[in-house]
Amino acid sequence: MDDQTMFALLVDLHRDGARQGPGSDDETLRALDLTRLDKAAELRVADIGCGTGASTLALAGRLPGARIVAVDLFPEFLDILLERARAAGCSGRIETRAASMDALPFAADSLDLIWSEGAIYNMGFSRGIAAWRPLLRPGGVIAVSEITWLRPDPPEEIGRHWHAEYPEIATAAEKIVILERAGYDLLGYLVLPSTNWIDNYYEPTEERIPAFLERHAGRPEAAAVVGMERREIDLYRRYQDWFGYGFYVARKR
Ligand code: SAH
Repeated sequence: MDDQTMFALLVDLHRDGARQGPGSDDETLRALDLTRLDKAAELRVADIGCGTGASTLALAGRLPGARIVAVDLFPEFLDILLERARAAGCSGRIETRAASMDALPFAADSLDLIWSEGAIYNMGFSRGIAAWRPLLRPGGVIAVSEITWLRPDPPEEIGRHWHAEYPEIATAAEKIVILERAGYDLLGYLVLPSTNWIDNYYEPTEERIPAFLERHAGRPEAAAVVGMERREIDLYRRYQDWFGYGFYVARKR
């Protein structure tokens, strides 16, 4: 399947979800507390790989003086994000930009806070934190969730899976060293609870699958996308003790 077909199908499967990856408002706000930023300040914030804006809206609700630029590769997600922002009464403080995370439309030293949930893997954690650092003002903060080994001894099946899918997966201790070497000081770390994966992401995704397959009846590419999703869900159910999303909050040195 070519990338364009796969992306179009993934957008179609996930656009109606409240979120496009594991997470929750509670954990977003918990990570926000770790930033130690003044929540009443006029912060300039970017939410990278925002999807339909679950975290964008949670941040806008908690940061009344902030202006947030929400960035995603897919305009379909951004259209839904803006509708949701209008419904929540905060669209005046949110802008959207269709752009790739490896070519972000921000000036150097211009951001107080870079947020990114379940998305930095698209360019890779090491590349992402290095490429985004110049956009933060000195003392600015990055908060990213990233696939992390929760135990150092993963069973062979899940080790092989992640080695093929995302070889940058590592333990939190290893990720923190990468952040420190890239010019950040760690402010805090938390692990998303498994309910953030199952209740907030996988179960809603599974519920949308029958209608998705009906919309794309007879297309083997759609069946292949569903097969991928189901395999991912099955692996998470069986190996959730070994991997998860670590949320890393760190300040530019
Ligand atoms: N942060 C959202 C979405 C996570 S899913 C949430 O937690 O719900 C990953 C997101 O990254 C998707 O919305 C996808 O469209 C976006 N994405 C993938 N590649 C990207 C790229 N190169 N640049 C910007 N966004 C990208």
